[in-house]
Amino acid sequence: MTVPRIAVVSAMREELHALHDDLAGARIERVAGRDFHLGTLHGRPALLVLAGIGKVAAATTTALLLDRFEVEAVLFTGVAGGLGEGVAVGDVVIGDTLLQHDMDASPIFPRWEVPMTGRARFAADAAWSECLAQAAGASGHVVHRGLIVSGDRFVSTSSESAALRALLPEALAVEMEGAAVAQVCHDFARAFAVMRTVSDRADDAAHVDFPRFVNETASGLTRRIVRAAFA
Ligand code: SAH
Repeated sequence: MTVPRIAVVSAMREELHALHDDLAGARIERVAGRDFHLGTLHGRPALLVLAGIGKVAAATTTALLLDRFEVEAVLFTGVAGGLGEGVAVGDVVIGDTLLQHDMDASPIFPRWEVPMTGRARFAADAAWSECLAQAAGASGHVVHRGLIVSGDRFVSTSSESAALRALLPEALAVEMEGAAVAQVCHDFARAFAVMRTVSDRADDAAHVDFPRFVNETASGLTRRIVRAAFA
């Protein structure tokens, strides 16, 4: 019997490249412009793939990997803008629930609800999220758990992040893919988790903080947490 794989997906190369050093026996399958790297990660069958940035890129990649490969769970990992009070650059945020902050078919459907699904929030796998939170905490990070919101916008002004905080006060972080992955995994009835490290505060300094953090830290940090979680 084949053991189902864990898929680790990121938007950008900077977020995933260090994990490739841990992927043993890798071979590549190329589908729709994406390279699916199949191998074993810390002894478990795994798949690493870059999705690209934004909800459509993330949804396409997630649907492809769930349809084509025997994947039991998806981990989306990368960086995000901190929204919640006390969510600082370098902290880890685990998404217990995910919502698309730019989904709005009101007044036909309630704001944020994904039409025809009856829901705005999609829940991540509790056990897996707990395991990642433990691993991140054990490797010395401040860990926050709760709502992550996604939309097709790099939030890089203090006025926009303040507006998001006012509308969704419980949102801890904002990024551009997590809720799309959540919706696709829901359709496929497959477990997922979203783990983000905070690269910026989604404010007027985000355009400076983001590249600095992404280039220096993002990928190595994910590698350490994934290694601890898989051990
Ligand atoms: N200018 C950048 C654009 C990256 S978009 C570039 O050229 O590469 C930002 C990426 O990081 C997305 O994948 C998103 O998920 C995440 N992210 C980090 N901070 C964010 C923020 N403040 N708002 C939205 N997404 C953010």
